[in-house]
Amino acid sequence: LKFYRNHEIEEIAEARLRELEKELGKPLSPPIPIDILAEKVLGLDFLWDSIEELPGEQILGGLIPKRRLIVLNEKYQKLFNEKPGLEYFTKGHEMGHWDLFIDKSSLDNPSLFTGGDECAFARRRSNSGDIDIIKKLQGDPDGRELLRKFNERADDPDEARSVNRYSAALSMPKQLIREEALKIDRTHWPNLYQLAEKFNVTISALKVRLMQLKLLHIDESGKLHDSPDAVTGQGKLSF
Ligand SMILES: [Zn+2]
Repeated sequence: LKFYRNHEIEEIAEARLRELEKELGKPLSPPIPIDILAEKVLGLDFLWDSIEELPGEQILGGLIPKRRLIVLNEKYQKLFNEKPGLEYFTKGHEMGHWDLFIDKSSLDNPSLFTGGDECAFARRRSNSGDIDIIKKLQGDPDGRELLRKFNERADDPDEARSVNRYSAALSMPKQLIREEALKIDRTHWPNLYQLAEKFNVTISALKVRLMQLKLLHIDESGKLHDSPDAVTGQGKLSF
């Protein structure tokens, strides 16, 4: 398994965003059209289909590398409509698997690509948080054969971290989100909700991203601060 440092993931995502910009022929502005990035830059397609779940679990989407296909669980179409940021993040997450961890050169060579046709990543949700698995799936009766049998395997936690970081970096490009975040008072939730809407991300994804970029801090009492330094008042003098 490849290991990526955060700054490497940011660089890969930024290079993809530049390719997208070229494709669009104009500067990027929020929300970033990551669907177009998936299709035009990464060469992936999207498909809505049913994904079988174990009792109590929630699988939002998956990736079928050999088909260059991101599958979204049609069962959650309504949830995704209500929370577009969730659909958006799920897409970015699966794109991250593709861009960071799939060896494209081995895809068309069955003897090299161990996962074969029957391998897919699925984003599995549980009460203890998001985990990633490769899971047994069943296609629906009229036979979309691509959702046949998948092997069960948990995503490496580091792989999950990496693809989530990638998703965040694509949907909230560092410079753009910084620019927008600096315009607002980040110590008030309504402002953050507005910003999340602008970038088509969930409030939790925005929160994590702003904290990654040191543009937000939440103390033990749940109070918002506009940076980690704001709490101690040490500012740039701290070492
Ligand atoms: Zn995953």
